[in-house]
Amino acid sequence: MSLCINPLCPRLDHQENANNRFCQSCGPHLLLENSYRVMRLLSDKSGFGKIYEVNDCGGVDSVAISPNGQTLVIGGRDGTIKTWRVSR
Ligand SMILES: [Zn+2]
Repeated sequence: MSLCINPLCPRLDHQENANNRFCQSCGPHLLLENSYRVMRLLSDKSGFGKIYEVNDCGGVDSVAISPNGQTLVIGGRDGTIKTWRVSR
């Protein structure tokens, strides 16, 4: 499983996305900051934006994405929080 986070994507959960680095429906890169693969939606009622479960080898386990898709907030299992702007 690998979700596309493009709000305009016609098929966010395209079954081939799990085996690719680019969305097989709309084209953008699937890995956030080249590292984090989005696995599933955890909440879209956070008041900030959508919150997803992500998977990488560094222990990060959730990410919130602002409604305009420009800001990411990563929460790590060790309690650390990182934010950054998405470059497109
Ligand atoms: Zn897509």
